[in-house]
Amino acid sequence: MPDTHVTCPNCGYGYENLRKSTRMFDCPACGTTLYREDNTLAPMGNNGEMHDYPMLFGLGDAVTAEGRKYVIQGHARYDYGRGTWDEMYGEDGDGKGAWISIDEGDVVVQYPYHGNAGPRRTDPPAVGEKITYAKTDYTVTEADTAKCVAVRGQFPELVQVDDEHYFINASGPSGQLLSGEFWEGGHQWYEGTWLDPFTLKVDRQDGSSGR
Ligand SMILES: [Zn+2]
Repeated sequence: MPDTHVTCPNCGYGYENLRKSTRMFDCPACGTTLYREDNTLAPMGNNGEMHDYPMLFGLGDAVTAEGRKYVIQGHARYDYGRGTWDEMYGEDGDGKGAWISIDEGDVVVQYPYHGNAGPRRTDPPAVGEKITYAKTDYTVTEADTAKCVAVRGQFPELVQVDDEHYFINASGPSGQLLSGEFWEGGHQWYEGTWLDPFTLKVDRQDGSSGR
């Protein structure tokens, strides 16, 4: 039996081939989201309604962006009141993770800052405010509350339906994006780049190839 064999505590479904990095995933048999600590699983609730609509790419697809090829492991959908956007978690061949967000036609690839990297700021700046990080000047262009409405696949961290956070997006002079997420007792900064969707290469898991 492989080390990664775990069983859904809700329905008994056996799950093989969990990635080492996976902390959270959803049971394909009963739709319960499961949080993994070592190889014990805690049920965390429902995985939400993921209404199907055409997407540039989805779970299992390989996406080449900025010279790196990511295989999409997780898909989370967020509602920000006026609509929804999709965040895909992908890992490259070295296990380096990235979040690829798709908001209508706009695509951005983002990497979380770890440790001491990233802006020091722990509270959200306001729209229009200027912030400087790593010698780059950013202007906050957007701030809103986002609520997770559905999750599918595997994630390196807890991503839960109904979780809410406040987010800000700040733009740099040449397509850089600095994003912050803020919630009760925590925050996370991300660095990212806006991508032209036409520069993405998508290899679908069904073998077809997209742009
Ligand atoms: Zn299950």
